[in-house]
Amino acid sequence: MRTGLTPTHCPYCALQCGMNLRPADGPDAAEVVERPDFPVNRGALCGKGRTAPAVLARAVRLTEPLVRDPATGRLGPAGWDEALDRVAEGLRGVRERHGADAVGVFGGGGLTNEKAYALGKFARVVLGTSQIDYNGRFCMSSAAAAHQRAFGLDRGLPFPLEDVPKSGCVILVGSNLAETMPPALRYLTELRAAGGRLIVVDPRRTRTAEQADLHLAPRPGTDLALALGLLHLVVAEGRVDEEFVAARTTGWAGARAAAMAHWPALVERITGVPTPRLREAVALFCAPDSAMVLTARGPEQQAKGTDTVGAWINLCLATGRAGRPYSGYGCLTGQGNGQGGREHGQKADQLPGYRKLTDPAARAHVAGVWGVDPDALPGPGRSAYELLDALGGEVGALLLAGSNPVVSAPRAAHVEGRLRSLDFLAVADVVLSETAALADVVLPVTQWAEETGTTTNLEGRVLLRRRAVDPPEGVRSDLAVLHGLAARLGGWEKGFPTDPEEVFEELRRASAGGPADYAGIGYRRIAEEGGVFWPCPAPDHPGTPRLFLDRFATPDGRARFADVTHRPAAEETDAAYPVVLTTGRVVAQYQSGAQTRRVPELNAAAPGPFVELHPRLAAGLGVAEGDPVAVVSRRGRAVAPARITDAIRPDTVFMPFHWPGEGRANTLTNPALDPVSRMPEFKTCAVRLELPGPG
Ligand code: SF4
Repeated sequence: MRTGLTPTHCPYCALQCGMNLRPADGPDAAEVVERPDFPVNRGALCGKGRTAPAVLARAVRLTEPLVRDPATGRLGPAGWDEALDRVAEGLRGVRERHGADAVGVFGGGGLTNEKAYALGKFARVVLGTSQIDYNGRFCMSSAAAAHQRAFGLDRGLPFPLEDVPKSGCVILVGSNLAETMPPALRYLTELRAAGGRLIVVDPRRTRTAEQADLHLAPRPGTDLALALGLLHLVVAEGRVDEEFVAARTTGWAGARAAAMAHWPALVERITGVPTPRLREAVALFCAPDSAMVLTARGPEQQAKGTDTVGAWINLCLATGRAGRPYSGYGCLTGQGNGQGGREHGQKADQLPGYRKLTDPAARAHVAGVWGVDPDALPGPGRSAYELLDALGGEVGALLLAGSNPVVSAPRAAHVEGRLRSLDFLAVADVVLSETAALADVVLPVTQWAEETGTTTNLEGRVLLRRRAVDPPEGVRSDLAVLHGLAARLGGWEKGFPTDPEEVFEELRRASAGGPADYAGIGYRRIAEEGGVFWPCPAPDHPGTPRLFLDRFATPDGRARFADVTHRPAAEETDAAYPVVLTTGRVVAQYQSGAQTRRVPELNAAAPGPFVELHPRLAAGLGVAEGDPVAVVSRRGRAVAPARITDAIRPDTVFMPFHWPGEGRANTLTNPALDPVSRMPEFKTCAVRLELPGPG
């Protein structure tokens, strides 16, 4: 058994809090010990991080492959050779019958950089398919697209979190840090203690909003109009930083015209935010020398998410709050490796190093590293929801790793049906998730504390997760799974090493010269420095904690205003569906809950879904606290107990999405997609409320 403390990082969200692990004798295999030297969280952890070792316990996880018996239809234990043979046969059979693009691969934003890289390479080189995407598409893809469009480069936060308290004002849009990443709240507390002001934009008076100097509660799906309204006032009140706009931006005329068409009374009508509050927000944002806008899923998970984020970036640019110290726009990425997961090639349109799959030079470079003909690399494939929607149709087989779309995808009942209709489904996971339970073959894989690998946190800081405990017998790493499949599907195993550091060394070469350049980052250096910010093109380069201070990453070095205007949500309320549903998270659960629902302490704190609604809505329906409420959308129906509070708008209900079954919030959500980012509209759809009735 291993002894001593191993410094590593939490398996869950994008804050990637530092922690030490000590092997333990009990069922959890390890215990968490504070790691105060890691600067991002300075030892603080939320309940998820503190209890993370519980998911290492053998009792809650898969410890042997499972194969579905065609005669009984049941999953049963199998050896690794049998399981990998079955997966290879399943993928090969569909490919031979229907072509390479009939085989899909679906990854996850929780996979390490090495796994994301290897999965993308496996799809394009071994399977030859264009059909690979990942669940990060459901996370921050709109912010990523808006970032690229405005600044020429997407790194969630272009500055470290330590800059937040030094800013004069922060507008936090659609982010409930108190529930999603509690240790990050201290940056806001420190901001206010230093005299900075906090504005929170959220349709709910969340625990985060309660800490704000000003809380704006727009109707879900209208924050694009809100940002335009603020920009209108910035112009009308003469607060534009003309010098900055002239020297460092392009496209102001169009953005200005759009903002001027959104006068305050109109914005008040669209958003429900009173004009005096808009004026107050502009005064708070423009008074200090520095200010930031930070967004999360609220503005991003919309069918106009890219433009909504673009409108907030416009506000930063017009006021000179970008590319300057303690100022700028940033996205608070959600999943553990949401940042790294989108840089290394598991996204439908990307190659490692955040390169474009359609760029001939990028194809040539990566193909050179992979030792293949660039012309043999497939082109871009379907985005995540489009891929899931094609299952059982044009896509007949799927290899899925690190995701649970039965719970986390929009229009989830439909997606579940698509998964069931596949000719072949293989799932690699730590636990028997709701999606794994549908598979023909389930491959039990190692997890965070049992393996070494890198992640890139929301600041673009590349971190090293270290193996602290031995995995249970019978479990293999995702890299070993890909190695085994590559061997069976054409003798490609040499290109798929099982040693994560070897994979990372190849990733460094593949990323060299790309936007997300990791060439100067190695395991030893990360260990010595506690993390390195990309881009870092050479071993003697210091890394880049702050981007854009001299120039933006566009060809002319100027940031680009977005030409955006308000438009309604993809699904507006009407007489049949008169209430807005918005979805989100609670502090004790993580994403689809596949891991955290198996942790007793977390389950006790958040045992199931609920419908948060205003007392007025509850009275109209005749429900009291805890009574079951049926929420019905055009896509289905979910039932959960009422939680009555005046902290939510009277026209809106909220459901957390972490649970399967009759309270599955994503049964209701709308898969309408953003035209640029292909992000589904999780954050707003039209519903009606009913009493569930008998049966
Ligand atoms: Fe883990 Fe995120 Fe909680 Fe930190 S805030 S302990 S990274 S879940």
